[in-house]
Amino acid sequence: MKAAREAVDLLIQAASSWQFDDALNGLRDREWMALRFLARANRFSRTPSALAQFVGTTRATASQTVKRLEDNGYVQRRSADQDKRSVILDVTPRGEKILASDPIAPFVHAIAALELGASNFRDLLRQILEQLDARKHRHHADSCRQCIFLTESASKRASRTQAEYTCRFFRADLSGAEVDLLCFNFEPWASTR
Ligand code: SF4
Repeated sequence: MKAAREAVDLLIQAASSWQFDDALNGLRDREWMALRFLARANRFSRTPSALAQFVGTTRATASQTVKRLEDNGYVQRRSADQDKRSVILDVTPRGEKILASDPIAPFVHAIAALELGASNFRDLLRQILEQLDARKHRHHADSCRQCIFLTESASKRASRTQAEYTCRFFRADLSGAEVDLLCFNFEPWASTR
């Protein structure tokens, strides 16, 4: 238990990479968090409600954050193809540009340099999150590759062309690049929900 407690002490200090009082490059920490999420989320999760869930805030506060990102030209909204009443939030090229100076980058580089390996560290964090989710009756966003709804597209398998996938939850095709993005409808293989 001592090592676990010490690990938490260290993790809290590492969190100073993404939690700060002042603005950095004109954005507060929550705005960076929102922009970062929208750049990593798939088209089903780039919504105001998924953003509020990820940042851990109310829809109203998330809307204010989106408004600031839109005013800065970092995000633009559009209607969803299937349901014109639904909104999708896309990161603009200007938003992608400022993400090059994301204050979380040193933390990412530190993980990439771990002797343990970034993949192993990621898998450990995933295990911790799954335990926390089970206790709090919630679930986290994760990538399609971990999701029970992902299947490899049969037509693509047969033609042996570039791998493509299908989401059985949304009944939608997914490209190889999309399956590495975050989704809030993700369901883990060994679901504890
Ligand atoms: S396969 Fe799972 S994670 Fe991927 S889009 Fe579908 S529901 Fe979301």
